[in-house]
Amino acid sequence: MAKKTETKLDFGSKWDYSSAPESAGHAEIKKEYGLYINGKFVKAEDGKKFASISPSTDEHIAYFAEASDKDVDKAVKAARKAYNEVWGPMAPKERAKYIFRIARLIQERAREFAVLESIDGGKPIRESRDVDVPIAANHFFYYAGWADKLEYAFPGKTAKPVGVAGQIIPWNFPLLMAAWKLAPALACGNTVVLKPAETTPLTAMKLAELIHDSGLPAGVVNIVTGAGATGAAIVNHPDVDKVAFTGSTGVGKIIQKAIAGTNKTATLELGGKAANIIFDDAPIDQAVEGIINGIFFNQGHVCCAGSRLFVQENVKDIVIKKLKDRLSTLIVGDPMDKNTDVGAINSKEQLDTINKYLKIGVEEGAEIYQPNCTLPKKGNWCKPTLFLEASQSHRIVQEEIFGPVLTVQTFRTIDEVIDKANNTPFGLSAGVWTDKGSKIFNLTTKLRAGVIWANTFNKFDPTSPFGGYKESGYGREGGLQGLSPYVKLS
Ligand code: ADP
Repeated sequence: MAKKTETKLDFGSKWDYSSAPESAGHAEIKKEYGLYINGKFVKAEDGKKFASISPSTDEHIAYFAEASDKDVDKAVKAARKAYNEVWGPMAPKERAKYIFRIARLIQERAREFAVLESIDGGKPIRESRDVDVPIAANHFFYYAGWADKLEYAFPGKTAKPVGVAGQIIPWNFPLLMAAWKLAPALACGNTVVLKPAETTPLTAMKLAELIHDSGLPAGVVNIVTGAGATGAAIVNHPDVDKVAFTGSTGVGKIIQKAIAGTNKTATLELGGKAANIIFDDAPIDQAVEGIINGIFFNQGHVCCAGSRLFVQENVKDIVIKKLKDRLSTLIVGDPMDKNTDVGAINSKEQLDTINKYLKIGVEEGAEIYQPNCTLPKKGNWCKPTLFLEASQSHRIVQEEIFGPVLTVQTFRTIDEVIDKANNTPFGLSAGVWTDKGSKIFNLTTKLRAGVIWANTFNKFDPTSPFGGYKESGYGREGGLQGLSPYVKLS
């Protein structure tokens, strides 16, 4: 009889995968990008430009024009003209055709966009390929569908566009945030001036090229690059009717003050400090995978990242053991490698912020745990980090770190965890892991968070509204609710 052999699977140690880099050969990067104003690519009036640097290699990627007040003024004027003369008067079903076309073109060029997003932003190609780009295309599809159906979205009312929207987006989901902002605005008949973040302008300018190819009339979408001063010029321009902003709570407050006393309306999607709560009856393996996914897979560069873990006390040991095991198998490194789980930190400034919090956490007395992984020599990198024995008053628990850092706390009762979870200035998202539907419903009614996931985390769909409470901002993006900020109802 043949001798029986036993195969042992060792899930505790890291599997070595051969690297599987995505090719970047097909993605065209120009030496220099202009501003997209009134259907043309133009230089900044004063000729100023800035460079975008790869966060994973420190290499120079391209130059981008830095828009001044004068350039922003040109963009707003172009948007106003297009609103008055073309886009506003156009039949909604005709507008829809353009938006559908943009969606289809994104699908056609999906691979190129994914590659460029990873080069410019540092996120793993798996994520830009499977999350950012497909959801961006879906967003345009979804809102294109609404363009000629607004009477059903707002029954008994007449929905008119607001006018010119100024839209400012951050660096964590550059293409996706542009889609979140542009699609509902265009579907409701508005024209736009959009500014991407200064560290991730590449896919926004590629999107400008794609929009140009789609034949969208000149001036309907204008994309200007630059830093905070360019953003402020958009916010403060007297002929902008609506401001849509995603970014830090600090800048959100500046914008709020800047538009106070004007007729401008705003939606602000700001920071977060999401609680991810594991009960003892949860499917522990799935929960651990969801926790890891929720905080580490985009380097924690997600406003709704599950950055605070609350684990029921009687399952603490097993959950922490599994978390540490899983952390040791995460692959940190080249964003272009299809095996990579955790990519580069988006900028040196952000890495400094994260490192500052790592120091604060240790000084506050939390127990730091990092897996034994080797980080690449060039670029901005941070090991996935756990802070065990964290407590409610710690700054690492209260403040947004925006990096791959998870604080771990325990709880005994439902009331205790609700109190702890709600006890931050933020209220963007939360996650609940339990076998019991009744617990889920109990928590979803009591957690003050705009989005609550149950037995999953960080799942997005164009049909679901997204937005926050408290210092996480106001207004909703996505879904039927995402149309409201872009219409005037009568
Ligand atoms: P983060 O901390 O995520 O970088 P920021 O709030 O600094 O977030 O940036 C988000 C976006 O806001 C970026 O496009 C940035 O250029 C822009 N921005 C920064 N400062 C201002 C400002 N004072 N007014 C308008 N936009 C700004």
